Amino acid sequence: MATIAIQLPYTKGPEVLQLTTDKHCYAKEAKLAGTVIEEARRVIGRAREVIGRNREEFNVANSANIPHMEVPTGTNIVANDVKRAVNDAVEAVENAVKIKIDASKPDNAGQQSAYEETFVRAYTNATTKIDEATEATARVHQAGVRYDKAKEKTVLVVGGGVSGLMTAWILLDKGHRVSIVAKDWAETGTEAKGITSQIAGALWEYPPGSCGLSEIEVPVLAYSKLEQYQEWAMQSFLFYERLQTVAGTASGSTASGSTASGSTASGSTASGSTNLSFGARMINLYQFFHHNYSNEGTATAETKAGANANEHYQKYIRIRDLGRTEGSFRDKLQTSIWDATGEPNGSGEWVNALAAVNSTGFGLKWGYRHRAPVIDTDAAMKFLMELVRDKGAVLETREIKGDLHLHERELMDDFQADIIVNASGLGAHTLANDDQIFPVRGAVKRMNMPHPFLEDNAVLLPAQYDIADNPSKTIFIVPRREDTLVVGSIIQRNNWDLSLTHQSPEVMAMWERAKEFITHLQENRGLGEDERPLAQGLRPFSHSNVRVSADNRTNSCRVVHNYGHGGSGWTLAVGCAWTCVKLVEMILHEGKSGSVANTEVWGLKQY
Ligand SMILES: Cc1cc2nc3c(=O)[nH]c(=O)nc-3n(C[C@H](O)[C@H](O)[C@H](O)COP(=O)(O)OP(=O)(O)OC[C@H]3O[C@@H](n4cnc5c(N)ncnc54)[C@H](O)[C@@H]3O)c2cc1C
Repeated sequence: MATIAIQLPYTKGPEVLQLTTDKHCYAKEAKLAGTVIEEARRVIGRAREVIGRNREEFNVANSANIPHMEVPTGTNIVANDVKRAVNDAVEAVENAVKIKIDASKPDNAGQQSAYEETFVRAYTNATTKIDEATEATARVHQAGVRYDKAKEKTVLVVGGGVSGLMTAWILLDKGHRVSIVAKDWAETGTEAKGITSQIAGALWEYPPGSCGLSEIEVPVLAYSKLEQYQEWAMQSFLFYERLQTVAGTASGSTASGSTASGSTASGSTASGSTNLSFGARMINLYQFFHHNYSNEGTATAETKAGANANEHYQKYIRIRDLGRTEGSFRDKLQTSIWDATGEPNGSGEWVNALAAVNSTGFGLKWGYRHRAPVIDTDAAMKFLMELVRDKGAVLETREIKGDLHLHERELMDDFQADIIVNASGLGAHTLANDDQIFPVRGAVKRMNMPHPFLEDNAVLLPAQYDIADNPSKTIFIVPRREDTLVVGSIIQRNNWDLSLTHQSPEVMAMWERAKEFITHLQENRGLGEDERPLAQGLRPFSHSNVRVSADNRTNSCRVVHNYGHGGSGWTLAVGCAWTCVKLVEMILHEGKSGSVANTEVWGLKQY
């Protein structure tokens, strides 16, 4: 079993997202850990007493007798978390007491002030550790209490893409019963067809993403703003980074209590799955630009091209600064820049990147690099589907018709559900009666890896204006796995047609442009680029940006939405799912109306 615990940045309190990658749910573990928690409380109390007494009475140092915790057999991961925290605290207290005893020995007379200094440090450390152990114990206890509440409630999730499945995972790990209904599932094993979530690149990009000149449709009066996209993206970044290290740990257990009626996910078997990997990897992402704004002092924006390049530059500064902060992101983003005037031939780490691109032909002036997750969506969708089944979710294939709000009672009766999550992507046009939803057609070629450099490095020419102020097209070169490269991308608004082929003019133009840009694609032949089917799909965009909010058309409405992720569904998935679950729990367990829950989560950030 593996747990993924991340300290969520940008949340009001010190919140931790704790999930397990096998059929157990975190909250159930927390409930089972009850005895250990009781024992932990006793030990923490004793440790606190000992350290407190020694602080007051310098010469009385004989109370180092701290009972160690007895963890019952059949220990679980949650109990071990608490045990570790308590043991650390006990060790720190013992250390402080030992210093105190040494200081009181006659041989050490005269060195009291040196001992006092060491003791103060040890004392401070011990109190910090006690606080940490207390927090861990309380957190786990709370999760156990929530589990009792959650297991009484069933959530119906509409949508089997990354948004629906991530939301389902968190709900299941918090103890809820979950049913998932979708008209289509990821067809594991096929490259061309599948839902949008499987077709995706899928590169993590700090918002705004490169899909279009700016992915954020409107800056104000929207369901979410750039700032919120960035928070969701960073929460997802930490999750994928952590998940990478626990990949390959899905359970080999059979799906208990799961009746995946009518599921069409071919090749996906919930039972007996072993060693599944989520397929998340950290790579270097190199982005190139026609304008040079690397000099902070001279970043100006007189022209459209200048304004856009300046936006990209500000984005780089934000990423760079995040990577330098003390918080969760420190050293994780690892930025660096290339400046054509400063380093005409490239140097150091940029040598290979510059050898990979045709910088002269494309008039490139500037670029930056940072670490980024990339996801093999075939593996990830299979992993997510099997995981939620293993945890007991019931999957059903069905098309839901009409506005969910109007059919809410009927659906909740059908699925014995207490609340509905709408994660239907483009389906939200009908299911949320939202006419702001529109498709942006996309397509990518998948091919054999042409060169070792591209195995661990993605190269992007984001949508921007060229030197003559003309909008230029995105070039997207991303390693899907070490043996497979993804080349894209097509970005066509309001186009619903999915009959593109390798011979379609826009696909041929995309491929020619990519070959001209990436020298390693020119050098190689036989990459299988035309033998594999073209992967194409519709990005679920919204003129009102991403929507994660409760439906508040009436006070009693029991629908929470999570849709409109455009070209960034994987980038935002974890953060959005977390916010969605928060709203669900406020309505279900705290009895709040959709409006009140929205206000508490969003404050004045949302219209
Ligand atoms: C070519 C391409 C490249 C992309 N590259 C990236 C990238 O690099 N990085 C990134 O982060 N994102 C990328 N994306 C975007 C990303 O794929 C989407 O944002 C994401 O998949 C949206 O996920 P979702 O779960 O919200 O929607 P979807 O994956 O579309 O899933 C919607 C689900 O709802 C179900 N549904 C819909 N209507 C109904 C109904 N009426 N009844 C029942 N079920 C219904 C569907 O069957 C499906 O199961 C790319 C997309 C494309 C097309």
